[in-house]
Amino acid sequence: MNTPLPKRFAVIGNPIEHSRSPFIHAEFGRQTHISLEYDKLLSTPEQFTDTVTTFFNQGGSGLNVTVPFKENAWRLADELTPRARHAAAVNTLWMQNGKIYACNTDGEGLILDLNRLGHPPKGRSILLIGAGGAARGVVLPLLENGCKQLHIINRSPERARRLADELANNPELSAKNVSAGTLADTQGQWDIVINATSSSLSQAIPETGHIRYNSKALAYDMVYAAKPTLFMQAAASNGAQQQADGLGMLVAQAAASFAIWHGVQPAIAPVLNLLRAQL
Ligand code: NDP
Repeated sequence: MNTPLPKRFAVIGNPIEHSRSPFIHAEFGRQTHISLEYDKLLSTPEQFTDTVTTFFNQGGSGLNVTVPFKENAWRLADELTPRARHAAAVNTLWMQNGKIYACNTDGEGLILDLNRLGHPPKGRSILLIGAGGAARGVVLPLLENGCKQLHIINRSPERARRLADELANNPELSAKNVSAGTLADTQGQWDIVINATSSSLSQAIPETGHIRYNSKALAYDMVYAAKPTLFMQAAASNGAQQQADGLGMLVAQAAASFAIWHGVQPAIAPVLNLLRAQL
């Protein structure tokens, strides 16, 4: 009897050399006894559509999409999940009945990680700093998971307002608990504060107004690093009881992609521990 060939997956981006996705998916495969191949694909904006269609035409089963192609992938897909439609950016593609399907699992990754950290969004007041692609990907899942209040602030405040308006005008949501403002506009007291800006990548901190944390509050930086980021350090001295970086979200969004592709939810913690040790 012939053993079936392992299904083929890859992550596509530019740059791509640094990607930890092949490691994460190999570990998930080992854990769940699913045989798979997972490569890195370098592409360019001009070649992106060709690279993706060639991959699927040659029998590839699924792709993760990373910077800077999440919007290109959203445009290319034949079918979008509701989260993908809202985010206008996707990180997971798969082939089904001859069509390319797309989902954005960043939001689910964040929710899984908040749950792991003991801070499920339900009933919480959440301050979201940033209104770029990552923020767009997480707002709908935060609302769907029952957060009490969501306030979005951004360096360019019109981007935050546009995002809040979209949520308020979405007929399926008609969210009344979403507001937006400038970085200075931090009034209130917060259970969870999420830094969804890329400021930590340049060793900076978003210049927000004073942030008041509720007791037992969590400060969450989507960026991950070997040491606590400046945002996490500032939150600790400002009264946030717990701080976390985005490594858990990285592993959890990969777990959500894995579940879409293979129908099995892998365990996040063991892979997170391995990655943390490598940082
Ligand atoms: P975008 O480029 O789409 O958006 C960047 C955001 O950061 C914008 O809101 C921008 O504000 C803001 N910003 C950048 N620099 C500063 C600064 N110095 N002060 C204040 N605000 C600033 O990036 P993404 O949204 O895709 O990604 C954001 C971060 O999240 C990245 O660092 C990325 O690595 C991380 N991420 C982590 C994931 C994980 O799994 N852990 C998943 C996805 C993203 P403005 O609109 O004014 O320009």
